[in-house]
Amino acid sequence: MERRKFLKNSGLSTAAIIASPLVTSCKETTVETESSTPVLKNIHPVVIATWDVPNATNKAWEVLNKEGNSLDAVEQGVMIEEADVTNQSVGNGGRPDRDGNVTLDACIMDKDSNCGAVVYIENIVHPVSVARKVMEDTPHVMLAGKGAEKFAIEKGFEKENLLTEKSKEEWLEWKKTSQYQPIINIENHDTIGMLAIDKNGDLSGACTTSGMAYKMAGRVGDSPIIGAGLFIDNEVGGATATGMGELVVRTVGSFLIVELMRQGKSPQEACEEGVKRIIAKNKNYKDFQIGFIAINKNGETGGYCIHPGFSYRIYSEEGHINQPSTSYLGE
Ligand code: ASP
Repeated sequence: MERRKFLKNSGLSTAAIIASPLVTSCKETTVETESSTPVLKNIHPVVIATWDVPNATNKAWEVLNKEGNSLDAVEQGVMIEEADVTNQSVGNGGRPDRDGNVTLDACIMDKDSNCGAVVYIENIVHPVSVARKVMEDTPHVMLAGKGAEKFAIEKGFEKENLLTEKSKEEWLEWKKTSQYQPIINIENHDTIGMLAIDKNGDLSGACTTSGMAYKMAGRVGDSPIIGAGLFIDNEVGGATATGMGELVVRTVGSFLIVELMRQGKSPQEACEEGVKRIIAKNKNYKDFQIGFIAINKNGETGGYCIHPGFSYRIYSEEGHINQPSTSYLGE
């Protein structure tokens, strides 16, 4: 309770948000009132997600379009992928670790910088919703492994076996050589990171994954780490990542991108700079894929990656598109 109160009090007031230079400098989204206080107007909701996940962005848009808030939109959006057993990188049907166990990581962050995460959780289809419960119902930010599973069950989530026959067969095949060499873009639609801005102009984000296929038991990547796999600052914007988590953690990638936007870069420029930072710090960068997407407070979006092949979904009033990302090696 105490911590919630602190977070609430330390969050920016609406007045502070609307008076921020980023927003007030955008003539199209501000208007002078009688008291000369600028207020946001003409806010257009937008949702953006890593990879070509039209069902997920469609669901999030449905929420945003019914005056729903961005937190519900991103949670319900990524839940679609968590429940989809044909997506073998997220939730139910995810590829297992080397020992054949499906272990999931997820996090969520809202407009007030509240956040929650679960790491290395097993047997629960919707880790993003457990992460939201951690955020809303506990004094903590992150729960791991068995503790996270116990908490989920106490909250009414059902225990399920997440290893599908398909993922099991592929794992048994992989075990014949046990070569741990992630293949670029092979997971095709990978970690799902989703960012949304609602009709009130408030931002939220969520990120969910089964992590790198055939990872070591106990391994946790960037996706549930606030600042690495996801970061939201309602004053500035949000960013999220997909790809080799170890590289993203080393540069605190999503936080970096939001800070670059705070300094004035567009979402596209900030994603490019984020990927280039990773490239500068990792000589073997060609062996890995990293993709970042970002959104700013004005609803502008961007994305960038190392290898060609990454794309992201954008749903706004202008339409619903799969946007191929520009890439460092494709330039
Ligand atoms: N970022 C995820 C992880 O490292 C995996 C991925 O997106 O491919 O766990």
